[in-house]
Amino acid sequence: MNAQTRFLLNENDLPKYWYNINADSPVPPAPVLHPATKEPVTPDFLNVLFPMDLIQQEVSSERYIEIPDEVREIYKLYRPTPLVRARRLEQALDTPAHIYYKNESVSPAGSHKPNTAIAQAYYNKLAGTKALTTETGAGQWGSALALACGFFDLDLEVYMVRVSYDNKPYRRIMMENYGAQVYASPTGHTQFGRSVLSHHPDSPGSLGIAISEAVEAAATSNGTKKYSLGSVLNHVLLHQTVIGEESLKQMDLAGEYPDVVIGCVGGGSNFAGISYPFLRENLLNGHRTRLLAVEPTSTPSLTCGVYTFDYGDSAQMAPIVKMHTLGHDFVPAPIHAGGLRYHGMAPSLSALFEAGYLQAEAVPQLATFEAAVLFSRTEGIIPAPESAHAILSAINQALQAKERGEKRVILFNLSGHGNFDLAAYQAYHSGQLQDYAYPRAAVQASMEHLPKVELAAAI
Ligand SMILES: *Cc1c(COP(=O)(O)O)cnc(C)c1O
Repeated sequence: MNAQTRFLLNENDLPKYWYNINADSPVPPAPVLHPATKEPVTPDFLNVLFPMDLIQQEVSSERYIEIPDEVREIYKLYRPTPLVRARRLEQALDTPAHIYYKNESVSPAGSHKPNTAIAQAYYNKLAGTKALTTETGAGQWGSALALACGFFDLDLEVYMVRVSYDNKPYRRIMMENYGAQVYASPTGHTQFGRSVLSHHPDSPGSLGIAISEAVEAAATSNGTKKYSLGSVLNHVLLHQTVIGEESLKQMDLAGEYPDVVIGCVGGGSNFAGISYPFLRENLLNGHRTRLLAVEPTSTPSLTCGVYTFDYGDSAQMAPIVKMHTLGHDFVPAPIHAGGLRYHGMAPSLSALFEAGYLQAEAVPQLATFEAAVLFSRTEGIIPAPESAHAILSAINQALQAKERGEKRVILFNLSGHGNFDLAAYQAYHSGQLQDYAYPRAAVQASMEHLPKVELAAAI
């Protein structure tokens, strides 16, 4: 019996290319629309917010995009990340399934997010940007971008959702340690923030509001500041594909191939990162791996949302994209998986899900914490509450395999650790957490507020 637990690559195996799903996706991308005119956006409009290199990646249909040496050098601080066979978890479940996880929690920021943050900071530096603005929910994205901006000597303004700002002081301190300025959103610094505060002085904030503030700060900076987004966009998903490319090589080292690949989804970047290279193998090389996205029942954009054109943010300043959405005015329940509370889902992932190339399921909060605690006690790592959604699904797959007496090879992405989320674990252990299912009627109500898009543009 091969009792190997960790499957490691060395620095030379670090991928040289990101994989672009647009080259192989059987579903053509819908146009991205201007929030005011509702016509397809021009590169000039996007260039107010993003440097040209990233805009080109956003619309590219090239299959492989070279990772710049400067970015690969920084990736080497934590990549290639380990692939681990979760033998002790398998034993606890008494399952014939083999469970593997890709451990993205080993990055300095503690999640997969530096994979894109480093690339985005690099391309902005190259374009002469002086500062970046961004939003952060749980604080994971803000800390990843703060880390990356530090490496490239860029200033960073972070609009942090107020409820997280209040509940997660350590993430804020981490960002400040890397050199970022952090504000509790809604703030009084932007027109949009002031308008929210005038109606809701105690607003807990939302990712949608924070995005609007960060976009406004960049758009009104006369070109000195650009905006940076940690998920949803094509170029972000692209940068995350290093996860899946490494996993393919590592599964090979393990002498197995996954029957199912699992990731949690907020905006979809870590799931796309691990699954798109496996989807390429399905599409081009005859593999039949199931690709399973897991979301919370409190923010069920794939499983309950509508596939339609919607604004990327609450203030209707960000582009309109075709995606699975709960409505841009969605205000999430204060669940602890803060990174999974965005109202929409990445357009490429939405299109592939709609066409049946990817699958999705929604899971309730309490069960994810139960799975997280079992994982900590067997594998040792305290997972991020977001990642716990993937762990729960992997456990469910392993138990189903046991029931059916099949050997199943399961791979999931451990998108981050939960060492800064201990207050959530405390709330769980003291019985204060609840399940929350977002009502379908609320989704329908939000659909009244969708942008009115002409059919011609929508085709
Ligand atoms: C941000 C985050 C997520 C959700 O974002 P995606 O873009 O869907 O990956 C998941 N897990 C962790 C640890 C995160 O920080």
